Order: sequence, then C-alpha cells, then structure tokens
Amino acid sequence: AAAALTLTGCSGGGRGGASGDSTAAGFDKGATIGVALPTKTSENWVLAGDLFTNGLKDAGFKGDVQYAGASGAVADQQSQIQSMITNGAKVVIIGAVDGGQLAAQAKAAHDAGATVIAYDRLILNSNDVDYYVAYDNEKVGELQGQALLDGMKAKYPGKTKYNIELFSGSPDDANSAVFFNGAMKVLQPKIDDGTLTVVSKQTDIKQTATQGWLPANAQTRMDNLLASNYGSAELDGVLSPNDTLARAIITSVKGAGKPVPIVTGQDSEAESVKSIMAGEQYSTINKDTRNLVKQAIEMVKSLQKGDKPDVNDDKSYDNGKKVVPAFLLKPVIVTKENAAEAYANDPTLEPLTK
Ligand code: BGC
Repeated sequence: AAAALTLTGCSGGGRGGASGDSTAAGFDKGATIGVALPTKTSENWVLAGDLFTNGLKDAGFKGDVQYAGASGAVADQQSQIQSMITNGAKVVIIGAVDGGQLAAQAKAAHDAGATVIAYDRLILNSNDVDYYVAYDNEKVGELQGQALLDGMKAKYPGKTKYNIELFSGSPDDANSAVFFNGAMKVLQPKIDDGTLTVVSKQTDIKQTATQGWLPANAQTRMDNLLASNYGSAELDGVLSPNDTLARAIITSVKGAGKPVPIVTGQDSEAESVKSIMAGEQYSTINKDTRNLVKQAIEMVKSLQKGDKPDVNDDKSYDNGKKVVPAFLLKPVIVTKENAAEAYANDPTLEPLTK
C-alpha cells in the first residue's frame, strides 16, 4: 500500500479544492471527537493517547480515544472508527494501522458529516481525508541518512569507505517509504560513488522492511545479515528507522559478539536516549508528541468554530487520490552532543541527559 504514496514535490493541487468542505458549518463545543490510534508499536503512541484524552477534555470536547488491538489490528481499527461515526463524532483523528485500508471508513465519516484528520500516518487512496498533521517525514529520513554518514565519519577517523545495512519500517505504514526514501536521497549517491557498501546488497525497500514495526523481526533480520555477510567484513553503520528497531539491531550485533556500529533511530524513546548517552545508539529524532497532539487539537478547535484549520503544506502528500493539505512540524536530529539542549523542555528526557 505504501507504494501508492508519492511525494510529488510539484506545486499542483491548491488547498481550496483539496480540503473537505463538509466542515464549513462548525459544531457544538461539547461534541465527541474520535481518536483512533494504531497498536502501541512505539512510545509515541502511548503518549499520544494520554495527551489526546487530556487535551480534548481540557478543550471542552468529549474525546473517544481507542487503540487497535495487537491481533487483527486493521479490522479492529476499522470497526472502532465505524462506531465513533455511529456515536456521532464530529471529527475522527486517525493514526492508521494500515493507511491503505481505511478508505471505506473515511467515506463513512464524510457521509455522516464528520471531518477526517490523518494523524502522523497518511491515509492512502481516499478522497475523504481532509487534513494531515505530522512531523515532516521526508525530513526525518534525510536527517537519519545524514546522521549515519556523520556518525561513521566521526567514529572511524581512518576510514573512507564504510560497510552498512539498511532497515525500513512496516510496509503497511505510509511513513515507512517516506522515511526510507528521505534517507536514500542522502545515502544513494554515496552508494553509487563507492563510499558506502551495503554488503548484503539488500537495498530495496521490500528487502529492508520490518513487518509490523516489530523489534523481533528486525533482530532476526540483523542476525541473518550478520551470519551471512559479516564473517570477516566489519559492519560500520546501520540505518534504523526508529528507536525500537535500533535497540533490537544493537541487541543482535552484541549477541553476535561484534562491536556496536553507528545506528540511527527516531522517536526519542527513553531507553534509546539512555543508550545514546551511554555511547551505544548514535542518534534519534525528536518529534515531540506533545506538539503534534496540540496541533491536531488546534485543527479540531478551528473546525468547531467553522473555520478552516491552519495548514503549511499543500503539495507534498499525494495519497493517490488527492493531495492532502498538511500541517507539518519540524523534526530535530539528536545525538549525545545536543541531547541536553534538544530535551531542555522535556521533563522526562532532560534528566537522562545528565
Ligand atoms: C511513526 C514513528 C514510529 C513508527 C512505529 C511511524 O508511523 O511516525 O514515529 O516509530 O510509526 O510506531
């Protein structure tokens, strides 16, 4: 499904025609707002649920926040969204399990006069997605690719050529391809000029994918890559799309008795921040969930008043059917060097940088 997502980069698709007009009238202040979140595959999702529950309540709305269960997650989420609509939700905010399998639910929401906001992950192949709120996912990938290069350069001063392996996220998450393509924008030229060698030759996103974003899958793949390709070769770096997978990759490398290479990440999970401070994982990305939830709730507040929510990008996120007007936040790369500064206003993470 992720293949249907293209970053157009062109300037077509003005926001007027692209956004839903089903929202012009506004709705009651105490209205129900549905929030359908995926399985808790990383800490950001756990945080988001609490933040939505409290933030919607503080803003005077009735929040209906649900997570998809671990098994049968797609069907679970589909029926959760359907019942939110049946229960009269005026807005449904969706962090998709599988962005390619929610077109019917988005249409049902529109038919009932509700607005659909894709949260963090885009919903694909649907005309019924009104807005998208996320961190700039392509930028996340670019920062990861650049961090991999910078980290290896700093860690191995004598080397000019490096051996790397590549990991990407779950194929059903539209973000996975965007992260990977962003990283490859930086890494592919270095593969082409011989600076980087992917020893396994597994450079296609189908080969690098981590089904379900499950750490066990990344760990098994890393075990196999090491066993088949790194008998004598040294592994210098691994592109990991997030922190959960980064830690699984590091566990695998250690289990194989090899030195820990430069490993990238994303999400600023506490365990990874600790690992970075201890000199193991090299980098993560700060995508403060508090700001993303806040922005989504800002959209709801505008819709309640009958106003158009703020967007700052109307060209990047073509979901296969329409260019979805987006509000994109800026991700920040974090290494040991800038961690204290990056988390200065985060009461959970800041103490870990001491
Ligand atoms: C999110 C990442 C997260 C991943 C796995 C992605 O869609 O953007 O922050 O690491 O899902 O949960």
